[in-house]
Amino acid sequence: MNVRLGSEVANATDDVIVSINPADGSVAGTVEATSPAELDAVVERAWTAFRSSGWPTLLPHRRALLLQKVADGLAAQKESLAQLQMADNGKPLGECRGMVDSAIGTFRYYAGVCETIETDVTPRRGDYLSFTLLEPFGVVAAITPWNSPIMNDATKVAPALAAGNAVILKPSEDSPLLAPELARIALAAGLPEGLLQVVQGRGPEIGSALVAHPGVRMISFTGGTATGRAIGRVAGERLVPAALELGGKSPHIVFADADLDHAVAAVVAGIFGSAGQSCVAGSRLFIEASIYDDVLARVVVRTKSLRVAPPDAPGVEVGPLASFHHRDRVHRFVERAREEGGRILCGGAAPAGDEFDAGAYYLPTVIDRLGPEALTCQEEAFGPVLVALPFGDEQDLIAQANGTAFGLACGIWSDNFKRCWRVGRALEAGSVWVNTYKQSVTSTPFGGFKSSGLGREKGIDGLRLYAQVKSMYFGLHEQPLEVAR
Ligand code: NAD
Repeated sequence: MNVRLGSEVANATDDVIVSINPADGSVAGTVEATSPAELDAVVERAWTAFRSSGWPTLLPHRRALLLQKVADGLAAQKESLAQLQMADNGKPLGECRGMVDSAIGTFRYYAGVCETIETDVTPRRGDYLSFTLLEPFGVVAAITPWNSPIMNDATKVAPALAAGNAVILKPSEDSPLLAPELARIALAAGLPEGLLQVVQGRGPEIGSALVAHPGVRMISFTGGTATGRAIGRVAGERLVPAALELGGKSPHIVFADADLDHAVAAVVAGIFGSAGQSCVAGSRLFIEASIYDDVLARVVVRTKSLRVAPPDAPGVEVGPLASFHHRDRVHRFVERAREEGGRILCGGAAPAGDEFDAGAYYLPTVIDRLGPEALTCQEEAFGPVLVALPFGDEQDLIAQANGTAFGLACGIWSDNFKRCWRVGRALEAGSVWVNTYKQSVTSTPFGGFKSSGLGREKGIDGLRLYAQVKSMYFGLHEQPLEVAR
């Protein structure tokens, strides 16, 4: 395979982070890295903003108004943000527009939640009135990966601000360009200075310094499971809460009684959308043994027909991977499957042709004849790689499908309602899609079982994630309190 090392070369200096456009290897933009030494000042600014801006005590409907203005600002710049996102990480333009829409929707949704969320008046058990309040943590660190920058940034920043916090956002060093735009738009919308700051740089340097900083009171992380574990260890030591949205190896299941046209289309869309760079990608395909050959053949035909093209090409379905080093990692994964005895049914290489030579492209790849214990069936490739496995009965399926460390999502295709219910309940996954796949909206909780994470983002609880409950008692006694006897 023609291997380019563009991003490694371009990311080589300590104080500048260069975003490489994976469609053609050109420079998409540069940002200054934040040094760990500068972090104290960033955290101090965040606390000053938190304490002096009046944000945490601003009435919720007024905070909501500001969040709506951020959404307006994003909407006004939708096209330029989508173009920037495309250059930053290579996703097809249509998908980038969808991500900006998602970020806009997230700010509007949390404006609504902020204004309407209710706390409890708790049952009285004495001469007092007791109720709960949601208090912000103060300064929250939000750390995001490279696959969906503006969308992931909004999923953390909007509810954290809505809950009254100051936020320090650290995007991935592989997609650093969108976070500063979000901060700029928020400032222009009227968010007090210092309430949303961006730090840039490599995870093991500025990311770990941020997590360890004594001024950070809560951590919200999306990224790989190994990184999540490392952050969880530090958070545990510091006793600060950490919400961890991690990796997946999601099973996508087709029973013989399913609508196979819909199932095959969803299987292909569920893994090859975003070139497989989605935490919920349906990367393990389980097909009932009686229809295995037929369904697999149809999946392969459909996969081969996908249009692999530059991200701004008309009709593109699979763009480049987000970086050259990631493309190389995905290829090593496929090579490993080959060594493990896997049969590569399509893909397994970079596409040939002038338009692909300078970019980080990889063909959609389908592999079978691997045992469930093979590395390719256990570990996340985070690329356009699908492994297919047959199953006998429900028991066999559930054992195989639950047989990884992950538990992020799963899909079930069957016309048997009761079976969908049984299997959906038995699968260890935070999201279960029945006769659909990869639906994820800002109003529905999202998160993982097992090594796919801790905590739930999105939905009303997505705001509570960034708040701590305070219980308050107002005394109503007519007599002085007495020492308990
Ligand atoms: P990553 O874990 O390498 O990096 C994620 C972020 O963490 C980046 O900003 C990185 O700079 C930072 N980081 C790295 N090491 C750190 C450390 N020691 N301390 C603090 N921060 C550190 O992940 P990635 O390669 O950017 O993203 C791909 C992973 O993200 C995949 O595993 C994917 O499944 C996962 N992901 C999960 C979700 C979800 O919601 N569950 C969504 C998208 C991506």
